[in-house]
Amino acid sequence: MRSYAYGFPRLGKNREFKKLIESYWKGSIMENQLVKGIENLDSNRNETYKKYVDSFPQGEMSLYDPMLDMALLFGVYRADNLNEYFNLCRGKNALEMTKWFNTNYHYLVPDFEGKPLSFSITKSPWDIHKNVNENAYLIGPFTFLKLSKNIPPENFPHALKELTGKYLEYINLHSFASVHLDDPALVMELDKTEWEIIERVYQEFEKAKAEIYLFTYYDSIDYLDLLLELPFSGVGVDLIHDRGENLKKLEKKGFTSKVLFAGIVDGRNVWRTDLFKAAEIIKRLDEKFQKVIITNAAPLYHLPVSLEKVTLPEELKRKISFAEERLYEIKLIGEILNGNKEKAVEWLPNTDKTFGYIPAVKERVAHLKDEDFIRKPLYSERKKIHQKIFNFPLFPTTTIGSFPQTEDVRRLRALYKQGKLDKESYELFIRGEISKTIKIQEELGIDVLVHGEFERSDMVEFFAEKMKGIATTDNGWIISYGTRCYRPPIIYGDVEREDQMTVKEISYAQSLTNNFVKGMITGPVTILSWSYVREDLPIDKVAYQIALTLKDEITDYEKNGIKIIQIDEPAFREKVPIKKRNWDKYFNWAIKAFRLAHSSANPETQIHTHMCYSEFSEIIEYILQLDFDVISIEASRSKGNIIESFEKANFDRQVGLGVWDIHSPHVPTAEEMKKIVKRALKVIPTENFWINPDCGLKTRNWEEVIPSLKNMLSLAKELRSM
Ligand code: GLN
Ligand code: ZN
Repeated sequence: MRSYAYGFPRLGKNREFKKLIESYWKGSIMENQLVKGIENLDSNRNETYKKYVDSFPQGEMSLYDPMLDMALLFGVYRADNLNEYFNLCRGKNALEMTKWFNTNYHYLVPDFEGKPLSFSITKSPWDIHKNVNENAYLIGPFTFLKLSKNIPPENFPHALKELTGKYLEYINLHSFASVHLDDPALVMELDKTEWEIIERVYQEFEKAKAEIYLFTYYDSIDYLDLLLELPFSGVGVDLIHDRGENLKKLEKKGFTSKVLFAGIVDGRNVWRTDLFKAAEIIKRLDEKFQKVIITNAAPLYHLPVSLEKVTLPEELKRKISFAEERLYEIKLIGEILNGNKEKAVEWLPNTDKTFGYIPAVKERVAHLKDEDFIRKPLYSERKKIHQKIFNFPLFPTTTIGSFPQTEDVRRLRALYKQGKLDKESYELFIRGEISKTIKIQEELGIDVLVHGEFERSDMVEFFAEKMKGIATTDNGWIISYGTRCYRPPIIYGDVEREDQMTVKEISYAQSLTNNFVKGMITGPVTILSWSYVREDLPIDKVAYQIALTLKDEITDYEKNGIKIIQIDEPAFREKVPIKKRNWDKYFNWAIKAFRLAHSSANPETQIHTHMCYSEFSEIIEYILQLDFDVISIEASRSKGNIIESFEKANFDRQVGLGVWDIHSPHVPTAEEMKKIVKRALKVIPTENFWINPDCGLKTRNWEEVIPSLKNMLSLAKELRSM
């Protein structure tokens, strides 16, 4: 039985990737050192592959993002040197970034605005196929174009044909033995016409001199039977995230003279594979295909590199696999099929059923009733109560939560975490920052204040650390975009607060001012989206456990006199299923979880939420069902869309459309911000309109924050006097 793997993290065991590229940006290493370092990293990765599997793609290494590499390879952009390459990644002329399918990896979006839909094979300063002649990695032409923007739909078929032609030219120009084509967009919900275009164009691959292996993942393929008829030597399918749909189709098939890459170990979650069950499935499929190759389902870069360097409780370690362990599992499945079961038996997960179990928490969820998901009274009533209590002017102003995380803040937190700074001194320092920030906001004249979030590193990790049943790691990094990494927590058990999580800091902030200070928590859907989630309990139950934990925190806020609470849900749409027909099922629990968290808030409490950097217009109907009082929503990229969708949805809540794009170092003038407001006011009633930046300010510095907020406040003043 042969084995294969793809998408192993490029990050390196010690985040070498990040260190190399950032050193180059800082100018502390030269171009040749960077290239050499990255090439080393790439060959280390190949060595890791070789240790466990028979083959793998070459040319997966990127200096920033593979979509950009494709765009450069086929002449959509040009970069003559590395600086020009990185200019496309970051800074003024950077490409837009967006989420890669329903993951938290962000890719650079090729933009065809004002560009001809023609392609050319172009030399890039980062040649992904330098010295590659065996199995060359490429993103499939359909996925590439489908994820690009500003291609008029009527021109799409032509563009696909042109680009596929160039792919063939490129492939035939080289002497690759085979090509790994990553084409996950084929799992989207495609209509018949779209599929027929793909079918027609992809027939062209017949002319390829290399064997072509086409890979799909993240979901099932609606046209799997037809896909298997196309002139590819092999097809890769995801047998983990397909709700059984791929497998069902494959089992119905007659014999096919193709290679099937059976994705059977999970690239997106950490729980150890049921190796014997996997081997069973492979055996069954083997009768249907010329050859079945064991591989991963979804690229492995959604997992940290290896368990080896990670500190976790032993009981938990015995249950999970990261990327390298997934390779090992692929190997073990092969061994089972060859009759060697011993090592596979050894690998069986720890099945201590009591680990992480808190019966009382399960009980609490089991006793939830329908009314626990409904806040009372209705928004229309609450609005009147709030008007009396808060008495805000028109166009109330606020910010999203965080203020600059300066060198100092990060240094002191690191010292504290390393045990080099005692708790008391650290907390004193945080208090100092909070008090400074409150004073600044008062001086600026902001209506609803925040404490600044100085005590938090990451908005999910911070809460995860304070919850039982969730583990955080010291070194389990994955890339979110470019060189930016985060450590997803692991939700392994029943979730409950150890103690109050954020009340101390918020109350302290409130004690310093007569203005209202917003309590600030991360919502249940975002905590789930940015963590690895247990699979031994239905996801809705896990979500409700987290929601109840947050509910307790909200109750404590209220006991401490906090009147406004923001529940952040920036990842509210991240895990939305790729196929629309599965949306309702997702939103059903996601909405209920959010509502559960705030349903018992006092009528007097004003509940805010915040969402950003996603296309929210198409899910606005679902967002409305969250039943918050105020939403601040990023709008700097898709103002038009979102405003239009508010109108369509009959949006009756209060809205703060982000008037300042905080991801840019540019200080916006009041005039610039006014444009956004003007447009929105055509749709949103004046009395419902808030003024705020489009996200937290933690990545900005004070020199940008102060003048920008000043401008924002003078805009509010102007609007009020109009
Ligand atoms: N309250 C968070 C902050 O201001 C929200 C962050 C986010 O939306 N990603 O940093
Ligand atoms: Zn945000």
